[in-house]
Amino acid sequence: MTEPLSTDDAQAATRAEPRRVLVAGGAGFLGSHLCERLLDDGASVVCVDDFSTGARGNVAHLLAHSRFDLLPHDVCKPLDLAVDEIYNLACPASPVHYQRDPLQTTRTSVLGAMHLLELARRSGARILQASTSEVYGDPEVHPQPEGYWGRVNPIGIRSCYDEGKRCAESLFFDYHRQHGVRIKVARIFNTYGPRMQPDDGRVVSNFIVQALRGEPLTVYGSGTQTRSFCYVSDLVEGLVALMASAEGFTGPVNLGNPDEITIGALAGQVLRLTGSGAVIEHRPLPGDDPAQRRPDIRLAEQQLGWAPRIPLEDGLRKTIGFFRASG
Ligand code: NAD
Ligand code: UDP
Repeated sequence: MTEPLSTDDAQAATRAEPRRVLVAGGAGFLGSHLCERLLDDGASVVCVDDFSTGARGNVAHLLAHSRFDLLPHDVCKPLDLAVDEIYNLACPASPVHYQRDPLQTTRTSVLGAMHLLELARRSGARILQASTSEVYGDPEVHPQPEGYWGRVNPIGIRSCYDEGKRCAESLFFDYHRQHGVRIKVARIFNTYGPRMQPDDGRVVSNFIVQALRGEPLTVYGSGTQTRSFCYVSDLVEGLVALMASAEGFTGPVNLGNPDEITIGALAGQVLRLTGSGAVIEHRPLPGDDPAQRRPDIRLAEQQLGWAPRIPLEDGLRKTIGFFRASG
């Protein structure tokens, strides 16, 4: 016969425990915004990071929060925690950083994904992979839908990242088919905003920092190559919507802003918005630099009811404000 519950037990049974969410790469640019968003949502957050490209400063303001834990750890080593959800954002994202130690980039993408997938298998957690538009390589199909298999150089200077992320997607789907792990795969297109590091090396932070310092804006190649830039808060909403999406929906799903711009035009816009008198200086185009990139986001619109809302000019103003304030 079941014993009647004491008052304390009854209260504990009705008190909902917050869901426990692991954010790997949580001290990075995207990860730190995601940690904030999840705390606002009532979750308990474990931020796992090795601080290789992220910074403790990105999450310093969260350390006093009772539902926030910071765990220094390299995802290339296994870890054991009881969690309900896992976001895998651990990986250098800027070409400058991921090409500095390409072997570590591949290790992080592949071994890191495997260890987190094993954790998801053991704990029954949902797991989301921060994949990338780089899986499309230098695309011949434009804009890029999820059904496009891509055109990636498997031996080039970008392949540690591109192939690492492609292998991680493959691991996610094999863990799903073989072990029933509940997966979500987001293909993230170029995202920018506050908390990018000044030495990150990606184009938006480079141009803004250069313009504010009055140094030449370094346009690689002719500047006719295109990208489509998504503001960070829009992207984070997309990740959260994907994690909460219907059980049967795995993705991969594109998350990004389809508003496409040439890199030359972006330099002009940054000069105008900063009021900088800096000049533009052309530098050699790095190997395998994709000529064009724009997400087809119809799947995200249909499945997640998600679309980006912040126009490039508004997002650039906010980002310029951040870099001005941080000196
Ligand atoms: P970021 O470099 O700011 O963040 C990556 C974080 O992962 C950093 O905090 C870094 O210290 C951490 N990290 C790296 N290797 C690790 C390891 N072995 N163990 C533990 N932590 C490790 O970059 P970001 O822009 O915030 O990107 C986050 C994720 O989103 C990455 O996986 C990236 O590939 C993906 N992504 C980002 C973009 C973008 O435009 N921002 C586009 C496509 C995909
Ligand atoms: N780029 C540039 N100047 C810079 C940094 C980047 O012209 O100082 C170019 C780069 O060659 C690429 C585009 O801007 O064509 C986007 O580069 P980023 O490194 O931001 O991202 P990714 O190439 O991974 O999309």
